[in-house]
Amino acid sequence: MDIEHFRRKLVERQKELTASSNRLADEARQSGVAEVEDPIDQVTSTEAKAADFQEAGIERQELEEVEDALRRMHEGTYGKCIDCGRPIEPGRLEAVPWTPYCFDDQKKRDEANAKAGG
Ligand SMILES: [Zn+2]
Repeated sequence: MDIEHFRRKLVERQKELTASSNRLADEARQSGVAEVEDPIDQVTSTEAKAADFQEAGIERQELEEVEDALRRMHEGTYGKCIDCGRPIEPGRLEAVPWTPYCFDDQKKRDEANAKAGG
């Protein structure tokens, strides 16, 4: 496996996500400064903030996964499923270089999440 190839992809994604989360944090700060008197505007503003917050949450989670993957690279366990220890499919790593799970275990997790979500 070409670790350097994946390391470059991960570092690039890490930079993107860090820049994006900084931008969202700036926007959240700026929207927080604005005075809102009208109750209808207030609702809209709260919804917009919630959407921003959600977007920031998804990006922060992905950033954590990217950083975990870089740590596993450092430890020499990158490319192995953290659940079953089998090698993760190369095509899957190519598409999602920070994934900690093989296809089967990711599927199990997605199914479990779908059930939990109702
Ligand atoms: Zn697995």
